[in-house]
This record gives sequence, C-alpha cells and structure tokens, in this order.
Amino acid sequence: MLPVRTMPLELPRAEDRLLGWYDRGLAEFGDTAQGAHWPNEHDRRTRFEVMLDVIEEGPDASVVLCDLGCGTGELLAHIRDRGLQQVAYIGVDRSARALAYAREKFPDAAFVEVDVTAPDADLRPIACDYLVANGLFTGKFDLSHDEMWAFLVATIERVWPYVRRGLAFNVMSKVVDWERPDLFHLPMDEAAQLLHRLAGRRVRLRADYGLYEYTSFAYRPLAANVPVLRPLLPKADRLVPYLRRIDATRIYSNHGPLSVELETRLATYLGLPAESVACASSGTAALVGAILATAGRARDERPLAFLPAFTFAATAGAAEACGYRPYLLDVDAESWMLDPRRLLDHPMLAQAGLVIPVSPFGRPVAQQPWQAFHEGTGVPVVIDGAASFDRIEEAPADFLGPLPLALSFHATKGFATGEGGAVLSSSAEVVSRVVGALNFGFYRARDAEAAAINGKMSEYHAAVGLAELDGWARKRAALQAVVARYRLHMEKAGLGERFVGAPVTSLVYAFHRCRDAKEAQQMESGLETQGVDTRLWYGLGLHRQTYYARLPRDGLAVTDALAPCLIGLPMAPDLADAQIARVAAACQQGMKTSNARLPRPRSKPPR
Ligand SMILES: *Cc1c(COP(=O)(O)O)cnc(C)c1O
Repeated sequence: MLPVRTMPLELPRAEDRLLGWYDRGLAEFGDTAQGAHWPNEHDRRTRFEVMLDVIEEGPDASVVLCDLGCGTGELLAHIRDRGLQQVAYIGVDRSARALAYAREKFPDAAFVEVDVTAPDADLRPIACDYLVANGLFTGKFDLSHDEMWAFLVATIERVWPYVRRGLAFNVMSKVVDWERPDLFHLPMDEAAQLLHRLAGRRVRLRADYGLYEYTSFAYRPLAANVPVLRPLLPKADRLVPYLRRIDATRIYSNHGPLSVELETRLATYLGLPAESVACASSGTAALVGAILATAGRARDERPLAFLPAFTFAATAGAAEACGYRPYLLDVDAESWMLDPRRLLDHPMLAQAGLVIPVSPFGRPVAQQPWQAFHEGTGVPVVIDGAASFDRIEEAPADFLGPLPLALSFHATKGFATGEGGAVLSSSAEVVSRVVGALNFGFYRARDAEAAAINGKMSEYHAAVGLAELDGWARKRAALQAVVARYRLHMEKAGLGERFVGAPVTSLVYAFHRCRDAKEAQQMESGLETQGVDTRLWYGLGLHRQTYYARLPRDGLAVTDALAPCLIGLPMAPDLADAQIARVAAACQQGMKTSNARLPRPRSKPPR
C-alpha cells in the first residue's frame, strides 16, 4: 500500500514552478529558441521587433531598455544585429542558469538576477525608460489561469514604478481556433483593463504580426513634467576619435594636444589669434584665473570687488576666492547689467580693487565702455561672460578686447564640455598670465611665481569640447529653431511680448517675463501645476542667498523688481514642438489665473 499523506503538500510558488519549467527547457535544448520554449527562430525575431516597437522615439533613440525575463539574452543579440547602438540594455531574469549563458555571450552587458515579485526585491537596478517582457506570460505550463493572471498582475504592478516611459508584454490570444492548455490565453479586455489602471488612455494592443498572440503596450502619461533644462552634449561615438588620441599620447592634462587644439580652434572660430584663448576647468576657475592674472589677490587698501547682485553665485565665489569682499551693485533696468558710467562717481570706488560686470543669461557685455572705465579709473575689470559664447560669436569685435572675458562651458550652457571654461583676451600677455594663474603660478619653470590655483582643463574635457565644436553649427541651429518655435507659440498664445530669449539672451534661455512679483508667483505655481518646470536662474539675487546676505551693498531696487519676474522656461536643443506648445499653453493658462486673482477693474470711476 502506498503511504497516505496526512499533511497537505505545500506547492511551491507559481513563480518557482515557472522557473522550473524554463530551466528544464534550457537543460534539454540548450540556448536555442526551443530551449526558451519558442517554436522557431523566425517567430522569435518577429517578437523581438514587436517588443522594440515600444520605444516611442524610434529604435535609434538613446534609451535604457529593460528585458524582463531575458533568459539567455537573445534580445540583446537581436539589438546588436540591428546595430541599435543607442539602446542601453539591462537583462533581468530569475534563472541563474539562463543568466550564465547570457553573461558568457555578453560579458560587457548588464544582467541582473532578481525575483521581481519577491517582497524584499530591490528593483532599483532595473530602472529604465522602457521595459519589455517577451514570453514571460505566454506559457503557463501547469499553472492555473488564475495563478498565471495573478503572477502577471503582480509582476507588472511591481515593475511599473521603475519604468520611466512605457512597457510591453505579450500573451496568447483568445481569438484563435484552439487554445493550448499549457499556454496563457488572456482576453484582450482584461489586458486592457490592467494597462488602463497603470497608464490611463495611453494604452495600445498589437495583434497584427501573424502569430497567435498579441502584445500590450502601456505608456506613462505625456504629462510628465517638462524639465527646465535638458542638456545635450556630444554622444560617445563622436568622442571616441579624440579619446583614442589620449590613449595614444598618454597625455591627460597639462596643456596637452587636445586642449591646445581646442584653444586654437575656438580662437580661429572667433577670428582671434591663437594665443587669445586659455581653457579652464570651469567657468569659475576661468574667473579666478582672469582675476589673479589682472587684479591679483585683494590688497588691504582696495579690498572690494564690485559686482552685480543680479548674477549666479559663482561670480561672488570667484571674487572671494581671490580675497576680495564682494560689494553688490544694482543693475540697469534695460540691460540687466552694471552701467560703467554710473560707477564713476560711486562713493566706494576708491576701495574697489576689481569690477566684475556680468553677462546676465548670456547677454553680452560690450568691451569698449568698460575699457574706458578701466582707463579712466585704473580699476581692473574682469568680465563674467558665463553663457555668452553664442552671443559674442555674432559680433566678436564688440565683445572681445584686452579686458579678460571668462566663459563657462558647463553642461547647462550652450557651448558645453560638461565642466569647463575659458578666458578670452586680445592681449597675449593677459592670456599667458591666466595660463600661469591656472597652473600653480608656474610660468617658465616649476617655480610658483604668483598667486594661483590648479584650474587647467583636462584632456578629457577638451575632447568633449572638440566634439562639441565639430557639431556646434548643428546644435546652434537646433537651439535657434527651438527659440523660433517658442516665439511662435507664445505669440499665438497672445504672450509674444512676454517672451524673452535669443537674440537678447543666450540661446539656452527662454523666459516668460512677468509684470511684478505677485504675478510671477502666481505664474510659477500655475506652471508647476501644469507640469512645467521653471527656474529663477539667479534666484532672487545674491543678497537673498544665505551666505551672501551679509555682503555690503547699494540699494537693489532694480534687482529686486527684475529677479522674480524673469521666469526661466524649459529649454533643450531637442525640445519637441508639442512640449513647447504645452509650455505656451501653460503660460496662457497661468496668465488667466493670475489675472482672475487680481482685483477687477472698476467700470466707472468711484465718485
Ligand atoms: C554658469 C555661470 C558661472 C560659472 O560657471 P561654472 O562653469 O559653472 O563654474 C559664472 N557666472 C555666471 C553668471 C554663470 O551663469
């Protein structure tokens, strides 16, 4: 007699039973379509193509793709066969056996072993733009329909928060002549309802590819915030030729061939002699180098650096780093910058050892009036040109001269190297002093001769700069097109005269200008509720920043009125027309709301 079981046998989790089936298939058939329970290779390729269809931007886009239930990583083989180099792949599976095959085939790829429905699973490593689950829910083997459905729902709901844009999975169709008991045939309505819970109406079902299955797609609502700035620097492929030169020369910094080439090419581009440009490790380093090279460190009798309150924190930081006490001045209401003529009779001028006029949002600072100021007063002038590269190139003669101009090539500026900057001057002597000031004060030999820092640009950043310059005409044109479309959409929204951008500012800034702080505040919160990110790039002025609030200053009425009103709008070289239209519509809506909250004008004057 067979023994009678008295204890109910605890069945393993549905997930564990599925894993068993897959591992047995792999053991029997090896790394083949059959081994993954697919009838043949051709159909498997078809499914891969349908899965890649999840990428809304098209398969050429730079995206992170997570392949859930990746098995032996054959989707990656397909992606590579197709030459889709911009797809960054993450394979995810529970099966150590399958992943061993995958890792052996693709030692350079990311494969994550995780049981996504386990309560303590850490899913951060699978965060992605798109997730596909190809074949994970097509076979149910010995699972009941309800068990399989529960597994599907639990899996999709668990991973969805880690998916930035959309996901896709396939199941067997109910619209077939006969159903196989070991496959998971799911009514389309049920799939649609699950997807709808996740993604609202952004749902798609595809059954047009000739197999007995269908693929379900869910996308995050488009209403994800429009980010205020999405920099776009040269892609890896465009850096490679320059990086190979670094490998060959084994020169990584110290005025290597790439940074020298960048200096020369920038100078040529601006129509200057080669020795007019000194690259720096950041815009702030460029400022420090320019200050040390011309004004030197602060002296007791002239301890102040005059600078506008309407600027980014870096301006004051650079002055302090050179020993100066920043003294904050108000800007001109029209130009948003310091007016040199108004400084001539400033009561504190005799204590000023340095003036730093700033290019607000890249609006370029004219050389000539400041040169006149410098000649008239003897006070050194260093221009914080920050984001003005794309403006000065329009008329270099107006904006370049002996006074050093410090530029930032930070990722958020138009011409960008990630971190980086440069000092430009028509005086070769000034530039050579800047080079020393950014290299420990070494001029002729390894002897520190003057106050200095290490502010050199590395060869890696120069590589980015050279690639950026190679593609600059295109990036510039793309930014110009975005600004033009902004202007168009804002005009259509009746806000043409509220829009501020290039050619007034650098190409990387777009603003909605409000009439006063109250309107601006309502506008900002209005845009926020509409999912449009905004930024007051200079905050409310330096004097409102915690650390700089203690600085001595003039009355700052213009800065106080201006700073809250220039609301920075989203900008990117690839900002889509639909996004721009959305921002303009949000501005229009924001204006209505803020008008509605203002007191209604009286139709008759009060008696
Ligand atoms: C960006 C910026 C800087 C500093 O540049 P970094 O490259 O970030 O150091 C300085 N001044 C202004 C006005 C800026 O906008």
